[in-house]
Amino acid sequence: MTANTGKVNLLGLTQPQLEQFFESIGEKRFRAGQVMKWIHHFGVDDFDAMSNIGKALREKLKACAEIRGPEIVSEDISSDGTRKWVVRVNSGSCVETVYIPQGSRGTLCVSSQAGCALDCSFCSTGKQGFNSDLTAAEIIGQVWIANKSFGTVPAKIDRAITNVVMMGMGEPLLNFDNVVAAMNLMMDDLGYGISKRKVTLSTSGVAPMIDELAKVIDVSLALSLHAPNDELRNQLVPINKKYPLAVVLDACRRYVAGLGEKRVLTVEYTLLKDVNDQPEHAAQMIALLKDFPCKINLIPFNPFPHSGYERPSNNAIRRFQDLLHQAGHNVTTRTTRGEDIDAACGQLVGQVMDRTRRSERYIAVRQLDSEGEQPRSAGPRT
Ligand code: SF4
Repeated sequence: MTANTGKVNLLGLTQPQLEQFFESIGEKRFRAGQVMKWIHHFGVDDFDAMSNIGKALREKLKACAEIRGPEIVSEDISSDGTRKWVVRVNSGSCVETVYIPQGSRGTLCVSSQAGCALDCSFCSTGKQGFNSDLTAAEIIGQVWIANKSFGTVPAKIDRAITNVVMMGMGEPLLNFDNVVAAMNLMMDDLGYGISKRKVTLSTSGVAPMIDELAKVIDVSLALSLHAPNDELRNQLVPINKKYPLAVVLDACRRYVAGLGEKRVLTVEYTLLKDVNDQPEHAAQMIALLKDFPCKINLIPFNPFPHSGYERPSNNAIRRFQDLLHQAGHNVTTRTTRGEDIDAACGQLVGQVMDRTRRSERYIAVRQLDSEGEQPRSAGPRT
């Protein structure tokens, strides 16, 4: 377990929250902007390094506050530029963060929970069960750690990380407040200044929370579909029994319509051999998504031990993609990255299983696709 110091961790506070904090200790609100720049632009975690803050206030801050990200357990860099961090959070669990560079784009895949309660049948994270929600500091802390590791602080802030996807471990809509706070920090100019179009939340389909999300933020949305009918989706994504496809898609349609500006839903579909990869599934998907403003990412499954599923043949994958494409859909199929650091799907799941046997709480995280905008699944998750 990470030590609980009893101090206020400023890392996860949004600007209004930080302004409130300064007021609460009898200081001016403008201090919030100064401190946010030190934390997020310069990667500082030491109040004494904040040269535009007087000594008296620095001492006051040291007594009641801290800037503390998750503990880095390991950082690996692939020959293809993919990076993977394992970090330990307050609950004692470890989560992973993966960075995939692609041309001028760099996408960071961030976790929202340690474990997951939703138990999707093909997901290694779901098989581990739920451990804890990540705090806002632990979520934005993954961005903070990655940003610092690129050496882009302070001169080239946000150049390495151009996109963030909430597609790591966990269902982000079930850790709503912390995820929203962290995403606001990602987009804030005093945080990481990432465009709302380039911050994506991926959900398995917690329909009511999609409507709640629309009330507070306008990030991009992705839906983990994985099945084109309720009967099959009930098996693969059990939360579908509570929020069936029609309900979820209606919520997604409302959300995307509210975004305006020709923005679309990203639909993720993990292809499982002989389960959901047949022409009739493609036909059902075409009917389901008819006239829906979306783009589709196909994710060929990468088997992990005891998953019970197999990856479809390349021919089956191509056939599925072609059918969607011929129906007029914008569809891509993801490719593998980061295999040499066990960031590839099957490899990562194997490591998760091994570490779990050693009683370490551990998670897997999605990889990102070749376009860098949406992640691939390392054992598909939200
Ligand atoms: S796919 Fe997402 S929602 Fe489903 S069990 Fe995995 S992490 Fe949870």
